[in-house]
Formats: sequence, C-alpha cells, structure tokens
Amino acid sequence: MPSYDFKSPRLFVEAALAEGSAVSADPAQANYLLNVMRLTDGASVLAFNGRDGEWRCEISKTAKKKADLVPVEFMRAQPPAPELHYLFAPLKHARLDYMVQKAVEMGAGVLQPVMTQHVQASRLNVERMRANAIEATEQCGVLSVPDCREPEKFGTLLAGWDAARRIVFCDEREEAESPIETLRAMPPGPLALLIGPEGGFSEEERAALREADFVTAISLGPRILRADTAAVAALAVLQAAVGDWRNG
Ligand code: SAM
Repeated sequence: MPSYDFKSPRLFVEAALAEGSAVSADPAQANYLLNVMRLTDGASVLAFNGRDGEWRCEISKTAKKKADLVPVEFMRAQPPAPELHYLFAPLKHARLDYMVQKAVEMGAGVLQPVMTQHVQASRLNVERMRANAIEATEQCGVLSVPDCREPEKFGTLLAGWDAARRIVFCDEREEAESPIETLRAMPPGPLALLIGPEGGFSEEERAALREADFVTAISLGPRILRADTAAVAALAVLQAAVGDWRNG
C-alpha cells in the first residue's frame, strides 16, 4: 500500500470539495474536532465526499461550536467505486453494525440486505447501516461510501437477478474443498457474495440457489462460522483469490 496519512482525522462530507471553498462541519463533526480532538484554527483534517477525491483541509472555527473545513491540498484522486456486491441476511444490532463495517473495510461497494426465510432481524435501519458504512470509510481510508440498499426479499432478488453478475454463495453444506480453487475456476466478471442468516438458508432457498447457473457455491472450511465471522472470512478469500488483494 502506498504511504498514507493515517494520523490526521478523516471526515466524510456531503458538500463538493474544491480548493479554497469552505465546507461546514456538521454539529457532530464540529464537536469531535473542537471538543474531543481539541483542534484549533489551521489544524489539518482530511475530507472526502465519494466524488472529489481526498483533500487536506484546514480548520477554521466560525463560532463556539462551529467550524469550517477549508480544502488546501489535493491528496488522492477519487478511485472507481468498489465493484463487489455484498448480499447478507441482516443480523441484530451490534453484530449487524460490525458486519457492515467489516464489509466496507474488506472492499464491498454495494451492501444489499436480503430477507431470507430464517432471517433473525425482520427490519433493518438503512440510515444506521449507512452511518456505520461512513464510519468505516473514515477509519480505513476508503474514498467511496458503499451504496446501502433497501432490504429485498430473497425470492424477489433472485428472480430479478442480472445473470451477468455471478453470485458466490457461502454454503456450510458444501464439501470443504478449497474455495480458492473454486473461485479461480469461475469465468471472469462482476461478483456478488452471499452469506446466510444465523439460522441458515431454508431447503427451498438452497435449492433455488443451486439451480441457478449464475451461482457458485463455496465452502469456508469444516467448521460452521457465525454469520459475521463468515462475512469477513469469505470477503478475505474472495479478495485474495479473484479480487483486489491480488493487485496490491
Ligand atoms: N444454521 C446453520 C447451521 O447450523 O447449519 C448455520 C448458518 S451460519 C451461522 C450463517 C451463514 O454463514 C451460512 O448461511 C453461510 O452462508 C455462512 N457459513 C458459515 N459457515 C460456513 C462454512 N463453513 N462454509 C460456507 N458458509 C458458511
């Protein structure tokens, strides 16, 4: 990885970023910069908005609890958004937060909740998912905030699926053979990774996945992993076998 500034605070902003055009920090960001970090006028912060790359900004305190970020130096160009779609049955509360954050760190570009028959969390707060995704991008230097989509029912998602994007289906019933070899044997093209709920997929869902010619099942080894562990393991294997870990 090229050398990179991990020391300065990094903030996501909605506004456009261009040299000299001040952007207002929102109240939570202003509180973090002025009160938590105790930064003063002229201190450096990195800012990104998912469109204009990363900028080094200087803080300008405009009121007791308000601050502007003034872009002064262009640091990194905006890369294309990560190509990988991550499909997952929502977990509850903290474990969902964890899974979303890890998926972003591991390079997912689209987060698609899927309501399966045995899903534990019957509702999902997309705003909370997006807040977690933004926090992960701020922490790990990613410049694109993933597209956080509304939940879809499993059947609807599969019926409307664009077969040009292969689904890598993590199935604990698959023979524990090397997922790396299976992944490398797939035809090249865009990918989605699917992890099931804590209760696993139903027989009907598993059969539908196994019948679809745009689905490849992989094993994640001889142990049953919790869904959040499976997410990180599967994303690591996929990125190492056919994804962006190969390109440095
Ligand atoms: N309820 C299932 C059972 O007890 O057999 C386990 C479901 S597991 C906790 C949640 C999800 O993680 C699964 O649906 C699958 O997508 C993934 N997973 C967990 N362990 C796996 C493994 N060894 N191989 C492939 N996928 C796995």
